[in-house]
Amino acid sequence: MITAVMPTYARADIAFERGEGAYLFGNDGRRYLDFGSGIAVTALGHCHPHLVKALTDQAQKVWHTSNLYRIPAGEKLAERLVKNSFADTVFFTNSGAEANECAIKTTRKYHHDTGHPERYRIITTGGAFHGRTLATIAAGRQEKHLKGFDPIVDGFDQVAFGNLNELRAAITKETAGILVEPIQGEGGIRPATLDYLRQLRKVADEFGVLLIFDEVQCGMGRTGKLFAHEWAGIAPDVMALAKGLGSGFPLGACLATEKAAVGMTAGTHGSTFGGNPLAMAVANAVLDVMLADGFLPRVERTGKLLWDKLGAVVKKHPKVFAELRGAALMLGLKCVVPAGDMVDKLRANGLLTVSAGDNVVRVLPPLIVDEAQVNDGVAIIDRVASAWFN
Ligand SMILES: *Cc1c(COP(=O)(O)O)cnc(C)c1O
Repeated sequence: MITAVMPTYARADIAFERGEGAYLFGNDGRRYLDFGSGIAVTALGHCHPHLVKALTDQAQKVWHTSNLYRIPAGEKLAERLVKNSFADTVFFTNSGAEANECAIKTTRKYHHDTGHPERYRIITTGGAFHGRTLATIAAGRQEKHLKGFDPIVDGFDQVAFGNLNELRAAITKETAGILVEPIQGEGGIRPATLDYLRQLRKVADEFGVLLIFDEVQCGMGRTGKLFAHEWAGIAPDVMALAKGLGSGFPLGACLATEKAAVGMTAGTHGSTFGGNPLAMAVANAVLDVMLADGFLPRVERTGKLLWDKLGAVVKKHPKVFAELRGAALMLGLKCVVPAGDMVDKLRANGLLTVSAGDNVVRVLPPLIVDEAQVNDGVAIIDRVASAWFN
């Protein structure tokens, strides 16, 4: 008999009753160090007092009004995102997939409204993940996500991640944009080189197509800068955000330059829930913390510490781990042993991580993780690796 909750997930048999900072407390009575952050979502850890206060204060005023009316906290959040990014304008969504949908629509509409309706195709990269809607599974083009959901939404082409020759060759008169994750998340923590990101900007400019970055996972401070592409010193035309933006409250955003968003006028796009007062209150509180002096440099420093310590563990256990990759607090342990088994064993030992493509274990601690917790997490990984073949 089918379960009441549609059985689309393979869940671990544990539930959590409470969270505090980098810890989750299970219904098994145990405490877990959370280096998964609900898949890079709870950027400020669990029950951050500033976020709890923002949410509960707002909960007593007004939850939802719809986008038929002005939402001052949304105007404030959009202004802050604009001020701290390349963008001039923001559309709020409820998820990462919807943020990408808005990015795709913005890109198509830009060409439509600037005299090139024939430009509608978006080039994506192998190993990409952009969400589970019909358009975003077509964009990601992973067989396991597409199978059984034909017909595939038209308008997406794919080239190898990191390969500029293939990219140039794939651009046609119908190409509207290039959609790339600066660090692939679900694909297995595969960072683009900074040079590749810079060349993407050049190619996009040369061919008059828009550059779209999907920073749903790598954005919002995870790499030690607010957005991962900042490391390359270039900017996209359009960007999708979600995950860390609400730090646990469902929220996404599509950011764009004024030029790219030229076609996104009243009535062209919408969302009933997107940017509602509860979400906006929480995200403004998230930005209060992330934009405070010293927060992002601390993420970078903690990331370096984690990199050094995990790197040593990887070296020590070459039969268990093949490679460490990623940036700051978005790291991937490419495994020799099955990554899914590693995630299970780590959890049994009190550490939560997330598996990804390419046989990788994702290490995604909350950005507020401290040195002692980094040491504890790495010690668990070392211990599990040491005992692997016993
Ligand atoms: C998680 C993720 C998405 C999809 O976000 P949802 O909120 O699950 O729709 C899209 N792109 C990237 C890079 C992601 O990591």
